[in-house]
Amino acid sequence: MKILVINCGSSSLKFQLIDSASEDVICKGLCERIGIDGSRIVYTPAGKDKIIKESPMPDHNRAIELVIEALTNKEDGVVSLDEIGAVGHRIVHGGEKFTKSVVIDDEVIKAIEDVSDLAPLHNPANLIGIRACQKVMPGVPMVAVFDTAFHQTMPEEAYIYGLPYSYYEKYGIRRYGFHGTSHSFVSKRAAEILGKNAADLKLIVCHLGNGASLSAVDGGKCIDTSMGLTPLEGLIMGTRTGDIDPSVVEFIMKKENSTVADVMNLVNKKSGVFGLSNDLSSDFRDLEDAYVAGNPAAKRAVDAFVYRVVKYIGSYTAALGRVDAICFTAGVGENSGFVRKLICDKLQFIGATLNEEANKVRGKEEIISGADSKVTLMVVPTNEELAIARDTYALCK
Ligand code: ADP
Repeated sequence: MKILVINCGSSSLKFQLIDSASEDVICKGLCERIGIDGSRIVYTPAGKDKIIKESPMPDHNRAIELVIEALTNKEDGVVSLDEIGAVGHRIVHGGEKFTKSVVIDDEVIKAIEDVSDLAPLHNPANLIGIRACQKVMPGVPMVAVFDTAFHQTMPEEAYIYGLPYSYYEKYGIRRYGFHGTSHSFVSKRAAEILGKNAADLKLIVCHLGNGASLSAVDGGKCIDTSMGLTPLEGLIMGTRTGDIDPSVVEFIMKKENSTVADVMNLVNKKSGVFGLSNDLSSDFRDLEDAYVAGNPAAKRAVDAFVYRVVKYIGSYTAALGRVDAICFTAGVGENSGFVRKLICDKLQFIGATLNEEANKVRGKEEIISGADSKVTLMVVPTNEELAIARDTYALCK
């Protein structure tokens, strides 16, 4: 079966067409600037050059039509419309309602709407993507795959905030966690690579990208993760603060005479390694170059990022009671031997040692720990689209 995977944002839409049998990507692409002037679709059929088509996209319906056109047109199309057997949608927030992927029906759409206040920027955009696909591909089964689902196994002591309990009961204020599809994919793959049963393993997954989060996975189940009610909590990220004292918000508002919205913009978009490096960059490639060249601001940013990751690894080691393997994934985790080394050099407390030669790997599965290491250190590239395609196939075959 050919599965169309859709990741719909407010002004962009990423897609991949995946063959469920071979798990090959048949075509992948992106619609940019939906509802904005200058919109275009960029896509790459497997084994061919990138194709860019400028085309007005007043709304997501038109974007989905253009995706279908790109996939099925006579010149560079890769399938006929009736070959697309199912669509998998990435949904950011499933609240407490969704603990796994589900086939989309009216009730599911209503439930995704009901938790939209927990992800006001993302869930409405995800719903627009579902509705646009229903319009353009009526009758094709669709599946919702939630970023939060994998973390629903966290125990209450890990997900609850130290607020009056009524705020959890009234508003659902608790820690949910994100990147769940990635944490799930990587933890399962790690068990396969190690040739062990997931039920016997205690893992820490470090998803280090522009957004970054850690999870502690015990016997295949998530017991803690670093993001919270929103993806702002936890690690220092590309442009997000991660954990801060909430009083900082009020303090800045008073000092700068600014609004809550201003400060939320600051902590989400102007902070993290970007803000710490005096706005040098949020991209770790730039920061690494500057760090190596002796730039103190880049060093400050990367060192603070690394310190926070190590601190979380320490706390998750305590939560798990033992750690068998630490997995690095996502843009930085898969590609930056430099950042991995800075992190791993601080892990002597769990007896971890790094094999510097193996650590040169980029974007490939590799065991990077030394022969004497008490904990396996490994690079496990994530593949959220494949995970979505697998869940979609399993529910629609
Ligand atoms: P997201 O999906 O959150 O946008 P990614 O997982 O794609 O993030 O990671 C993007 C980040 O990965 C980039 O901002 C960059 O910092 C980092 N990155 C990608 N390639 C490299 C590399 N070769 N070396 C260091 N960092 C890299």
